[in-house]
Amino acid sequence: MVEAIIGKCPFCNKEGITLTYYPPILKSKTSRTSSNSKTVFYKTKEKYEVSSDCPNCGKKAKEIQKALNECKKDPEKEKEILKRLEDQGLIKGEIKTKIR
Ligand SMILES: [Zn+2]
Repeated sequence: MVEAIIGKCPFCNKEGITLTYYPPILKSKTSRTSSNSKTVFYKTKEKYEVSSDCPNCGKKAKEIQKALNECKKDPEKEKEILKRLEDQGLIKGEIKTKIR
């Protein structure tokens, strides 16, 4: 299930950008050896895709995406962003548990 979330722009810190949230998907892979075959389940990575330009400062979706990706490399910053989204009530409980 893909969900649209309204988020804060990392540049001007005002909300208004639209993020599309892609939750992790459980996939299966069958590996075969000579004697048996077994199915392995693995999760794809969840991701956020910026789907709108910022209506406040005019930053392009691409630039916002890049800034968000850079934040992702810093787990503390990522937590901070998630916390901020939480405080705004923009992340539903269900999504919250998926992130953790
Ligand atoms: Zn902005």
